[in-house]
Amino acid sequence: MAQLIVSKFGGTSMGDAECMLRSAEVSFRQGSSLIAVSATSGTTNDLISLGKNAESQGWEEAEKIISKIQEKHIKIAKDLKISEASQKKLETLFEEMNSIAKGVHLLRDCSVKAMDTLMSLGERMSSVLFAEAMSQVLKKHVSTKTAELFDVRQVLRTDDSFGKAKPLTSEIAALCQKHLGFLRQGEKVVVTQGYIGMTEEGMTTTLGRGGSDYSAAILAEGVSADVLEIWTDVAGIATTDPRICPKAKPISEISFKEASELATFGAKVLHPATLLPAIRKNIPVFVGSSFDSQARGTWVRKDVKDLPLIRAMALRKKQILVTLSTPEMLHAHGFLFQIFKIFNDHKVSIDAITTSEISVSVTLDDSTLLNKKLIADLAQIADVQVEENLTLVSLIGNNINHTPGLGKIIFDAISDINVRMICLGASKHNFCFLVNEEQSTDAIRRLHETFIEAGTEEMA
Ligand code: ADP
Ligand code: ASP
Ligand code: MG
Repeated sequence: MAQLIVSKFGGTSMGDAECMLRSAEVSFRQGSSLIAVSATSGTTNDLISLGKNAESQGWEEAEKIISKIQEKHIKIAKDLKISEASQKKLETLFEEMNSIAKGVHLLRDCSVKAMDTLMSLGERMSSVLFAEAMSQVLKKHVSTKTAELFDVRQVLRTDDSFGKAKPLTSEIAALCQKHLGFLRQGEKVVVTQGYIGMTEEGMTTTLGRGGSDYSAAILAEGVSADVLEIWTDVAGIATTDPRICPKAKPISEISFKEASELATFGAKVLHPATLLPAIRKNIPVFVGSSFDSQARGTWVRKDVKDLPLIRAMALRKKQILVTLSTPEMLHAHGFLFQIFKIFNDHKVSIDAITTSEISVSVTLDDSTLLNKKLIADLAQIADVQVEENLTLVSLIGNNINHTPGLGKIIFDAISDINVRMICLGASKHNFCFLVNEEQSTDAIRRLHETFIEAGTEEMA
């Protein structure tokens, strides 16, 4: 029986008609049955700015953004010479965009709920266009298969945490069985939206920025796919972000654990949650470039042959360091519990942590500062000190916490950069530390030179 392949194409792979046709060719060649697409590049940002402008500026500002979004999609529609039926679908989505923006403007209120529906339009528009591109490619190759547009909200059930909704795995599995059970027959190529979902009550949600990778993984789990493919603008996962370090090397194979750490600690190539569904169902994940589909790309698997000491490195910018101190912590118990309870009550997740006898330092996303109540609640039990403009630098690999001399090599490489906090020991796959934002790319470049370009991996 043929493999069931779920593919995802990111924003740049949807950039214009040429990109869409190229991506559709990749899908055809790979034999994908279910394709989740992102909004065309830049559109989600434009929709966010539409919501914000409609809320706080004159209507003319909103109109300008609406025109920009429409023109971009009309151009692709024209270049692809889409059918009348698809044209109508696109126009209906334009009307919806206009109405929501009007509603937001009249009420002067862009709630998270309204923002989610507004943002969902990006993927809903691009999928209409991509279904056309797919259909044309299938016809060109005289395939017996047909392309079908599918509203992912029929299956991607989520909770109601608008802006970062949580997928409900068992509901999704049942809905996939019901609505997409036909995929294995191999007669259809289904094109659907990444990033978006729906609550039980029928409200549209989104999974958080960059969430299309996660959507594709959830769908792969839901339909019990054999392979998940993530097609983007780079030829797989590299030893670091090639934009920071042009000498970054492609990684041909990486374990689920290493790739999860890499994604969690800032490698944008995969949304941090992407691998969770793949790990649950042990679905191998391929990451490749839709612009160069013949390039080797990266396989992410449970077990891999080669397990180097340092595989890759990543940056996570916009971090704050919150230090909580109180003499009451001396020889006392329960303090950490109280702190974590406050973070839990505010649904704020901590990235890295260190403690001493009377203080605890945690790193958080800088958006946390908007949560004034959290800081006030922490101040009730300890002195709170906040440091901003920090970046978490992470080295990802294997056996990191059992390798003598590793710390020396790392800190020799960046000896003139102040390290504000270090996290080592909890994971054998990760060594991370905090530095000032301005010095972070320099730190990565030097560590890359030391560990990847000069090949210090033989320490392992
Ligand atoms: P898409 O729109 O296809 O989801 P993204 O922009 O979200 O694409 O992710 C791809 C980008 O991730 C690349 O262009 C690259 O700059 C960045 N990136 C960060 N870390 C890495 C890494 N280790 N390997 C490859 N790409 C990385
Ligand atoms: N379009 C969404 C975003 O820009 C989701 C994605 O591209 O993965 O965040
Ligand atoms: Mg992405």
